Amino acid sequence: MARYRDANCKLCRREGMKLFLKGNRCTSDKCAFERRGYAPGQHGQTGRRKGSEYGLQLREKQKMRRIYGILERQFRNYFHAAARQKGITGENLLVLLECRLDNLVYRLGFAPSRKAARQLVLHRHFSVNDRVVDIPSYQTRPGDVIKVRENSRNLDIIHSAMKEVGKTFDYAWLRLDKAKMEGELLEQPKRLDIPVTVQEQMVVELYSK
Ligand code: SF4
Repeated sequence: MARYRDANCKLCRREGMKLFLKGNRCTSDKCAFERRGYAPGQHGQTGRRKGSEYGLQLREKQKMRRIYGILERQFRNYFHAAARQKGITGENLLVLLECRLDNLVYRLGFAPSRKAARQLVLHRHFSVNDRVVDIPSYQTRPGDVIKVRENSRNLDIIHSAMKEVGKTFDYAWLRLDKAKMEGELLEQPKRLDIPVTVQEQMVVELYSK
């Protein structure tokens, strides 16, 4: 399975904002963006930033794709699926991405980052409605209950991520039961519920050319 293997912090520096791809490190003073908040590469500090309409749309698309850790082809498939749905395509796109299983594992605080969540799902540490699911892109539906599997409840990575959850968990569309190590998707999130700073309309404009 293809995946991005280069340094994550370069992606934040390229997009000119923190994308929070590395868990606790992102909120520490080790964050590369805090120390070098300019684009990577030889001309990162001096290079001319493209200000064309296309350039801006491209950056928004890359930002969204990188936040959710999705490669180009799969992201384009998400866009087509969102365009086929009723409603606003950009919002549909974000909702589809938010309802991925790896994203919910991250939002529920069972993993420090989406990348770690993806790895934990692939290693069969979670069940959805009591059935093991090892597909990070699995689309959850309202009413789905995501549980840490019995044999995985002692994993340090899950426990240390959960310690942080109390500080940040604030999603009305999700239910979290820390004692049972389970969560539920209560309803699909609305745009205002999704704390992601991207201009999704620009992504739609890019793909609609
Ligand atoms: Fe981005 Fe900073 Fe996290 Fe690296 S540590 S992924 S630069 S937010």
